[in-house]
Amino acid sequence: MARLPILAGNWKMNCDHLEANYLVTSLGAALGDMNYDTAKAEAVVIPPFTDIRTVQTVIDADNLPIAYGAQDVSTQDNGAYTGDISTSMLTKLGCTYVVVGHSERREYHGESNELVGAKAKKILDAGMIPIMCCGEALEVRKEGTHVEFVLGQIDAMLAGLSAEEVAKSVIAYEPIWAIGTGETATAEDAQEVCGAIRARVGELFDAATAEAVRIQYGGSVKSSNVKEIMAQPDVDGALVGGASLKADEFAKIVTFYK
Ligand code: PEP
Repeated sequence: MARLPILAGNWKMNCDHLEANYLVTSLGAALGDMNYDTAKAEAVVIPPFTDIRTVQTVIDADNLPIAYGAQDVSTQDNGAYTGDISTSMLTKLGCTYVVVGHSERREYHGESNELVGAKAKKILDAGMIPIMCCGEALEVRKEGTHVEFVLGQIDAMLAGLSAEEVAKSVIAYEPIWAIGTGETATAEDAQEVCGAIRARVGELFDAATAEAVRIQYGGSVKSSNVKEIMAQPDVDGALVGGASLKADEFAKIVTFYK
């Protein structure tokens, strides 16, 4: 079964709900102008929590072909967890995806691979799809141990998941040195690690799971480099930060197949 490419825009801590309204409306219009074909790629936006209701309302009202999700979630169901958001709050808002383990959550909130795996399990139990992030820092890349490092993250993140759960999931390989820096990994760099992740999923589970799981590359993806990255056999999509904040640019990224 062919894997549907997934192009997800991580808005990070950008856009209040009024700006979100404008951005998702403009993205819908731009995708329409570019004759976006939902059979060729999946367009996803990942706004801040405070924008999700607005994004849901615009997408539903205009019947836009855009899925959406959240940037994080709690492992708890409800209760005294000030500042946290539960999976049931997100399913109620129609979220399909939740990003977990972004390098910025790991760095600023001390999130471990084990916590990321627990969040992924919680998301799957709630009927949503986790986008599990992994990726090495520059020092690791310079040492040449990046593949080993990322596979260690994969082993720990996937430890509590079944083959069926992993098959539904999305893994985003995002070398930290390429995030928001303008420095993109080469298409070969992306393929090296995405291919190794797929092979490891095959070892940990089975060939069918490895064949099914979608693996994204993330790190300074733009309309000018997306085609080359997406041409790699084990790259099934992109997680896009900065370039997803411009509707026309992100629509070009989503329609990379043209
Ligand atoms: C990201 O935050 O996931 C990301 C890849 O950002 P950027 O595209 O801006 O490098």
